[in-house]
Amino acid sequence: MELNWNFTYFIPTEIVFGRGQVCQIGTLARKYGTRAILVTGPKTSRLGPLYDRVQALLASAGVESCHFDGVVPNPTTVSVSAGAALARSFGAEMVIGIGGGSSMDTAKAVAVEASHPGTAWDYLYYKQPPTEKTLPILTIGTTAGTGSQATTVAVVTNPETRDKSALSNRNLFPRAAIVDPELTATMPPSVTAQTGFDAFCHNFEALLSVRSSPMVEALALDAIRRVFTYLPRAVQDGSDTEARDQMAWADTLGGITNACAGTTLPHGLGMQIGGQCPHVTHGQALAVQYPSFTRFTRPAAVEKYAAVARTLDPATAGASDEDASWRCCELIDELLRRIGLWIDFQDLGVTQEDLKVIAGRGQVLGDYKRNPRLASIEEMYQLLISCWDRKA
Ligand code: NAD
Repeated sequence: MELNWNFTYFIPTEIVFGRGQVCQIGTLARKYGTRAILVTGPKTSRLGPLYDRVQALLASAGVESCHFDGVVPNPTTVSVSAGAALARSFGAEMVIGIGGGSSMDTAKAVAVEASHPGTAWDYLYYKQPPTEKTLPILTIGTTAGTGSQATTVAVVTNPETRDKSALSNRNLFPRAAIVDPELTATMPPSVTAQTGFDAFCHNFEALLSVRSSPMVEALALDAIRRVFTYLPRAVQDGSDTEARDQMAWADTLGGITNACAGTTLPHGLGMQIGGQCPHVTHGQALAVQYPSFTRFTRPAAVEKYAAVARTLDPATAGASDEDASWRCCELIDELLRRIGLWIDFQDLGVTQEDLKVIAGRGQVLGDYKRNPRLASIEEMYQLLISCWDRKA
C-alpha cells in the first residue's frame, strides 16, 4: 500500500476519555488559570443543563467563568468577534468550548482573536500564524464528530464573502479534551448520522491522503471498522451506550488521523458547499458527494480501497484488489443508505448555479492536493453535477 514512511506524529492534547468524565473539567481548567469563558450554542438548547453543570464544576474548583452562548452552526466571523470581545472584557485566561465542532472551532477562533491584534480571519492558515499568546483551549465534545478536540483546525465562515475557510496551527491544539460519550446521547438521529459520517470521512480521507503513514493506516482502519459497526446502531437507538462509546472513540481517532495526514477532495469541496450554502451541514456536504467521490478516486487508490473492503467484508478476503476496491465503494453507499444520508443536491436545496460557484472555488483550499487523484475545476464540476439527482 502507498504510505508515506517519512512522518511526524504530534498530538499534544491531553485526552480524557470515558463516560462521566466531564466531572474532571474543574481540575483540568485549574491548570490554566482562574478565569474562563465558556463558548457554546444557545443556553435555551437541549444542552443548557450541561452548561450550568460545567459552570458549577468550574466554580467549585476555583475557576470563575462567563458564558458566551452565541455559537452558530458553520461558525461565522461575526459570532467569533462577539465571543472574543466578551473574553477580553472578562479577562479570560482560557477558552472552554462545549458542544459539537461548531462550538469547539468557535472556541479556538475566540482564543486567537482575544489574544491577537485584528480578527481571527487575519490568522487563516495561509495568512499569518497565531502565536503562543493564543489562550489555552479546552474542549468538551457533545457530537461524534468532527474530531476537532484533537486537531489544529478551526473552521470559520465569512458571511460577507460566503467564504468558509480555516485557521490551522499547532497553537490551536486543545490543551485538554474531555471526550465523554454520555454527552452525545441526546443527539437526534439526524445529527448522529451527519456527524458520525464526518468521523468516517476523516479516517477514510486520512488513509487516502498522500500524507498517510503507517500510524494513520493503523488508526484509520480501526476507526472505519468501528463506524461501520456502531454508527447505524447509534442512529437507530441513541441510548445504545456501547455504540455511543465506540463512535466517540472513532471520532477522536478521526481527529488524530486528520491532524496527521489531513483530509482530501470531499472536505475541500465540502467547505465550499458550506460557505456558499450555509444551511447545508458539514455532514450533509460530505454525504452528498461521497458516492461520486469514491468512484472518481478509486483508480488511484485501488490497494487502499481494497484494504478498507477487507476490513469490513470477510467475503472480499480472496478477491482481487480491483474487485475488492469496487466493493469498498458499494459498502460506503450501503452505509449512507443505512444512516439515512443517501441524498442529492436537490434534497439540500443547492442549485446548479451554486455548484458552478462551488467548483470554481474547489482549488482555493489545499485539501484537493492531498487526494491521490488530482481533480481539475472541470472534473470537480462534473463530480458535483453527478450528485444532483440520485433518485433514478
Ligand atoms: P455542530 O457543532 O454544528 O452541531 C450540530 C447541531 O447539533 C447543533 O444544532 C448543535 O446544537 C446540536 N448538538 C450538538 N451536540 C448535541 C447533543 N449532544 N444533543 C443534542 N444536540 C446537539 O455540528 P458538528 O458536525 O459537530 O460540527 C460542524 C462544524 O465543525 C462545521 O463548521 C465543520 O466545518 C467543522 N469541522 C471542524 C473540524 C476541525 O478539525 N476543527 C473538522 C471537521 C468539521
